[in-house]
Amino acid sequence: MNVYDSERIAMGLGSLHYEITPSIEKADLIIVNTCAIREKAEQKVYSFLGRLAGLKKKKPDLIIGVGGCVAQQEGAKILERVPYLDLVFGTHAIGRLPGAIQSIVSKKYRVVDTQMSDEIKEPDIADGLYDEGKVTRFVTIMQGCDNFCTYCVVPYVRGRETSRNPENVIKEIRSFVESGVKEVTLLGQNVNSYGMKEGLCTFPQLLRRINDMDGLLRIRFTTSHPKDLSEDLIHAFKDLNKLCHHIHLPIQSGSNRILKRMNRKYTREIYLEKVDQLRNTCPGIAITSDIIVGFPGETTSDFQKTLDLIGTVEFDGLFAFKYSDRPNASAVRFENKVIEDEKKERLKVVLDLQDQFTVRKNNTLKDSIQSVLVEGFSKKQNRINNQNNSQNTQWTGRTSTNKIVNFFDGDDTDSRADNLTGRLVDVRILQTFSHSLWGEINGKQPISIGLRGEKSYVA
Ligand code: SAM
Ligand code: SF4
Repeated sequence: MNVYDSERIAMGLGSLHYEITPSIEKADLIIVNTCAIREKAEQKVYSFLGRLAGLKKKKPDLIIGVGGCVAQQEGAKILERVPYLDLVFGTHAIGRLPGAIQSIVSKKYRVVDTQMSDEIKEPDIADGLYDEGKVTRFVTIMQGCDNFCTYCVVPYVRGRETSRNPENVIKEIRSFVESGVKEVTLLGQNVNSYGMKEGLCTFPQLLRRINDMDGLLRIRFTTSHPKDLSEDLIHAFKDLNKLCHHIHLPIQSGSNRILKRMNRKYTREIYLEKVDQLRNTCPGIAITSDIIVGFPGETTSDFQKTLDLIGTVEFDGLFAFKYSDRPNASAVRFENKVIEDEKKERLKVVLDLQDQFTVRKNNTLKDSIQSVLVEGFSKKQNRINNQNNSQNTQWTGRTSTNKIVNFFDGDDTDSRADNLTGRLVDVRILQTFSHSLWGEINGKQPISIGLRGEKSYVA
C-alpha cells in the first residue's frame, strides 16, 4: 500500500515539476513515507529523520516532509520532535500535497495536514505515470478498515473502510496497461468486502471485469480476510484465466481463544475449511499467511496450536511478527503481556518450522515447467550490465503461485536485444532454494505478448 501511495506522491510532485533523483544529497525535497503497523517500523522513521539533520544544515532550503501512518498517528508532535521538519501529511492528504509544498516554498510555513475524510480522492491520471516501463503495478481499490482487530492500528490511521468506484479502478488499470503493465495487484485491507458498504459491485464481479481487459496478463490481490472469503471468490480462482493461483490469507493464530481475543471473527476450524475449499477448487494454489507470536495472554499451549496449524496447512510462505503494542489498539490494555525474549524465541520456532515446508514445497517444483511473467533482468544480470560484460542473459520473474524465478535464456549468443520483459515464458526449473527458484528457458517456444490470440516467438 505504501508503494502505491509513494507512486501517487511522486505523481503529484511531478505536477510541480519535481523529478526523482537517485541521490539523496541532490534532493531539494525529501518525503519519508512511513508505516506504523509495528513499533519497530515507527522507530525506524525517527532514526531515518535523524540522519537527515546534516543534509538540512548543509542545504537550508531543503524541504523535508513525513507522510503515511506515523504522520497520521503523531501529527504535529513530529514537528516538535524534529525541529528541521517542514511538513507532516496524513494518509488522506496525498491529494493535497502539491498545495502544501507550494505554501512551504512561497510562505515558508511549516504545514500539518492530518484531516481524514470518507471520500476517496481519485488519483489524477492526467498527471501521468512517473515510472513508465513497469511490468507489474499495485492498485489500491479501497482504503481503511472497519474490522478493529484488537492488535491493529490500521483503522485509526487509515480511517473507515471506503471502496473506490469500479469505473475509476478500471480506468486506472487501463491507463497502466496502455503504458505496458501486464500484471496488477489489487490492494485493500480486506478486499473480500470490496464495494459492499457502498452497494457497488462485489469483489469477484470487479475481478471478472478486470479479467476481460485486453493486454493484461495477470491479476493478483491482497489481503483477504478469512471471515469474508466467499465461495464466489474461491471459484474465481478456477474461472478467471488471469487470476494468479496464490492467496494471502492471514490466520494470525492457531488458537481459538487467541483468535477471539484478537477479534478475528473466525475459528481455526473455519479457516481450515476454507483452505480445503481453495485446494479442492484450485489444486496447486499457493497459500501464504501472517502469524503474530506473543499476543497478550498467549500461553505455550496456544502457541503449540499455532505450530500445529502451520503443520496441518503447510503454507507456501509465512510472514511472522512479534506482537507489539500500538497506540489506540485495544490489546494495549490487555493483561499478561508476553516478555520480549519469549516472543523472540517463539518467532524463531515459527520461522524454522515454516522454512522446512517452504524448502520442501519448492523442491517439488524441480524439473517442472513453470509459466513465468518476466519482470526484467535479475539482480545478478544488473551487476553484469554495470560491468559492461556481455554474457548470457539472466532474467527474473514470478510464477502464477508468486514464486520468484531467476533464469537463464539458454541461448549462447548475447540475447539482451531479445527483451523478454513483460512476456510470459515457460521456464524449466533446475534448482530450488528457500526463497527463489533457478531455471532455464524451455527451448524454442511461443510467448504470449498479451493481446488475445497474438503470439510471438523467441529462439
Ligand atoms: N488487513 C490484513 C489482515 O487482516 O490480515 C493485515 C494487515 S496488517 C497491515 C499486516 C500484518 O501485520 C497483520 O496481518 C499482522 O500479522 C501484522 N500486525 C498488525 N498489527 C500488529 C501488531 N500490533 N504487532 C505485530 N504484528 C502486527
Ligand atoms: Fe488491521 Fe484487522 Fe483491519 Fe487487517 S482486518 S487491517 S489486521 S484491523
